[in-house]
Amino acid sequence: MNLVLMGLPGAGKGTQAEKIVEKYHIPHISTGDMFRAAIKDGTELGLKAKSFIDKGELVPDEVTIGIVRERLSKPDCQKGFLLDGFPRTVAQAEALENMLSELERPIDYVINVDVDKDILLERLTGRRICTECGATYHLIFNPPSKEGVCDRCGGELYQRADDNEETVQNRLEVNLKQTQPLLSFYEDKGYLRNINGQQDIDKVFADIEELLGGLNK
Ligand SMILES: [Zn+2]
Repeated sequence: MNLVLMGLPGAGKGTQAEKIVEKYHIPHISTGDMFRAAIKDGTELGLKAKSFIDKGELVPDEVTIGIVRERLSKPDCQKGFLLDGFPRTVAQAEALENMLSELERPIDYVINVDVDKDILLERLTGRRICTECGATYHLIFNPPSKEGVCDRCGGELYQRADDNEETVQNRLEVNLKQTQPLLSFYEDKGYLRNINGQQDIDKVFADIEELLGGLNK
């Protein structure tokens, strides 16, 4: 079960990743965790990555790809893996294709948790925080009983600057631009499966289970 998981911020990708890993017992390989592990283990590539991160620079593809290769070669990936946050670009996707064909372990599916941009905007701008006690609310998922007022302490609720519509809109645009070519790449390869992320969490996962059920036959 060799999987790549994709989805824009707010699509619920993280939640689905947890559920997939729990049910199918494959390792969840996120880029962040992978970097942290390689740096902690002090591998050559880990140290290389660290030198870029410390300077606040982007880690070059060749280093990232090397770290992915090391990670996918570990014994816990024998039965499969769930890649999350990698690849980010078509160049990385091509490198991954080459790597997996050398390892004779092609991707089964690229699962894209698909949510309409307007709904993502609503989800991502809905967070409100209490000025007094720091409690967090969400206008859709966890609304306060009285608008603008903290249930816990009666404090006033505010919206963080990076949750405002313009900032979130920009972040989504950047992500969309980056993701589109990658989705087309995987569509052409025949790996892409769009899962409707606008349903409740359990229904989204049920759709993923249905898809993955076919792999075990
Ligand atoms: Zn409060």
